[in-house]
Amino acid sequence: MAADHYEVLGVSREASTEEIKKAYRKLARELHPDVNPGADASERFKLVTHAYDVLSDPRQREQYDNGGRGGFDGAGFGGFGDIFETFFGGGGGRQSGPRSRRERGQDALLRLEVDLDEVVFGTHRDVEVDTAVLCETCKGSCAQPGTSPVTCDICRGTGQIQRTVRSLLGNVMTSSPCGTCRGYGTVIPNPCVTCQGQGRVRARRNVPVDIPAGVETGLRLQMPGQGEVGPAGGPNGDLYLEIKVRTHDTFSRNGDDLLATLEVPMGDAILGTKTTIQSLDGEVELEIRPGVQSADVLVVKDRGITHLRGQGRGDLRVGVQVVTPTKLDRHERELIEQFHAKRGKQKPQLATFHQGMFAKLRDRFMG
Ligand code: ZN
Repeated sequence: MAADHYEVLGVSREASTEEIKKAYRKLARELHPDVNPGADASERFKLVTHAYDVLSDPRQREQYDNGGRGGFDGAGFGGFGDIFETFFGGGGGRQSGPRSRRERGQDALLRLEVDLDEVVFGTHRDVEVDTAVLCETCKGSCAQPGTSPVTCDICRGTGQIQRTVRSLLGNVMTSSPCGTCRGYGTVIPNPCVTCQGQGRVRARRNVPVDIPAGVETGLRLQMPGQGEVGPAGGPNGDLYLEIKVRTHDTFSRNGDDLLATLEVPMGDAILGTKTTIQSLDGEVELEIRPGVQSADVLVVKDRGITHLRGQGRGDLRVGVQVVTPTKLDRHERELIEQFHAKRGKQKPQLATFHQGMFAKLRDRFMG
């Protein structure tokens, strides 16, 4: 952008506004991208337009003449955009030939709820999907069978209408999509009746889906090519299945570990016992040591959720909750009082944080 604006336009420093306008008009007709597709021309066109933008504005021209950098800043380029729009009807991008009726179809999104026990090993579903599918009558051609699209005689198949626009700069050629064929270059005199010339219809279909083990709420499974078919039989979009894992009454989840709470009667907690629980995949035997405490965690290795697209499983972590009896008859109460007296009537006291319940929950439960 170091080029001198006057040199770029080929005018003297004393040129009148009218002379500057005239010079720009001449250059713009040579260099406009619609006329001259070369990359060089496009670069020069920008320079020329920018030079004109500055020199045609008396205030900016004065700044420029005084050695100011007026016109090189952002505001100057804003002006460039404006002038471009004004003179050439917006957009400098050249259109090339007719556009295709065939376009890629849209992606489809479905939400899918699964139970936690299905997540342990993965599951299979037939999912009902309602999307656009290929029209079987015309196979996506959009034309009634036996007929075919014909070349648009307004644009002669180019899809573009060239127009000469009169502007301040004189006559400039622009092109825009043909209104008759909407830029396709062809028209369909006999549209397919089944799809009204769209090449696709709406339909329900079943898509078999393998839901892998280890999925989590919010995860999206991508099924390439199972979305909507495109207009005129264009390639399918993708289908996305967004997973929601239903909450379970007993088990919750921490990563691929399963968490559960085991209520242990006070007597069992004191004396220890063995018990069998029903996990999400069969029975599991648990051994409760004598003197087990609330918030102790029994870890059953490899009985959690299978890792997503991987080997191995998380753990089942069973937290102990010792249940204190709430209703005692007279005899039971006497026994407990005797026991209490024998233990020397201990008093409740504060534990150190490390041995306390909150540290246990943090360290043991959440692993
Ligand atoms: Zn059709």
